[in-house]
Amino acid sequence: MKWKVPLFDLNFDSKEEEAVIEVIRSKWISAGKKTKEFENAFAKLIGVKHAIAVSNCTAALHLALVALDIKEGDEVIVPSLTFVATVNAVKYTGATPVFADIISKEDLTISPEDIERKITPKTKAVLIMHYGGFACNMDEIKEITGKNNLLLIEDVAHAPGAEYKGRKLGSLGDMAAFSFYSNKNITTGEGGMIVTDDDNLAQKARLLRSHGMTTTSYDRFKGHATNYDVVELGYNYRIDDIRSAIGITQLSKLDSDLDKRKLLVNRYYDNLCDVNELILPFKYRKDKSSNYIFPVILSEKCRISRDELREQLEKEFLIQTSIHYQPVHMFSKYYDKSRLLPNTVNVFNNEVSLPLYYNLTIDKVDYVCSSIKLILDR
Ligand SMILES: *Cc1c(COP(=O)(O)O)cnc(C)c1O
Repeated sequence: MKWKVPLFDLNFDSKEEEAVIEVIRSKWISAGKKTKEFENAFAKLIGVKHAIAVSNCTAALHLALVALDIKEGDEVIVPSLTFVATVNAVKYTGATPVFADIISKEDLTISPEDIERKITPKTKAVLIMHYGGFACNMDEIKEITGKNNLLLIEDVAHAPGAEYKGRKLGSLGDMAAFSFYSNKNITTGEGGMIVTDDDNLAQKARLLRSHGMTTTSYDRFKGHATNYDVVELGYNYRIDDIRSAIGITQLSKLDSDLDKRKLLVNRYYDNLCDVNELILPFKYRKDKSSNYIFPVILSEKCRISRDELREQLEKEFLIQTSIHYQPVHMFSKYYDKSRLLPNTVNVFNNEVSLPLYYNLTIDKVDYVCSSIKLILDR
């Protein structure tokens, strides 16, 4: 399928190519000095003491939960309107994910009120997800986790560089996990990052990342160590220097990515704000967002279904769209009809994500918007 406007396009050029060639020629391709450099730059960006690069965000979430000692018998409150990895990571530990609803059609982040309702004596942690790069209601969530002595973990896969009241997302809980999968704001193909301010948690995550071993191959190559002990049941969740080098380059493009996305989103708002058939979530947010996705919700005034709209955009106008997300509690693996999440289900039935990426142009945004208006008007 040749799209006129794809959902996403990569922001790679000769800088990424050169970064990769440099690592290959150095002959040290697994985790080494590029990975350290990537971690240091990332910690600085988020304003935290520690960043630990890993193979992907799912691994990052898993390691964060293990480092925080979440285990069988514990409950972790999670959103259902998220990518399934958020919830799978809880399952890996043996703990039980407990789903909370979102706030509304205008705010697709987890509802603090519903978090509070879902707390039981077994609740150990709340794992939130900053949908589309928009902060969850952190003041209320932190008040609840503080009052009930719960751990707070942030899934920041959508939100590198985004803020809540001037603080970077990922710096607001006990630990946080970022993704560098290929369609995220910045990418290494596959990749992820754990961040935390806590020295002990960082130390534990580093151990668990590489089999629970007390030294790395790079330490031994550098002559800093000759042996190692194994002190935890760890995993192989390492990244490598090839990807870290791409990550360093991508990180230098983050500011321009966020600026460009903001420009495009404002154009979407200008074009679509008077369309009665559409609700534009987060439109009145003031905090800096990473605008990872641009969701629109069909209102009750809309005469066609979400699927009809998507199909016409695809077939007639060659515009690729997506849905964020199929709620996790509705998948076969997680299905439980006792878990009522009315706002989540309502948004799922009516949401469309429109194209948004650094290389998108104002002209293409106008084309997407005029195509939507044409379909809705007939
Ligand atoms: C992409 C994504 C993940 C998983 O990231 P990977 O790096 O692919 O493991 C987790 N949570 C959310 C919300 C995501 O969008």
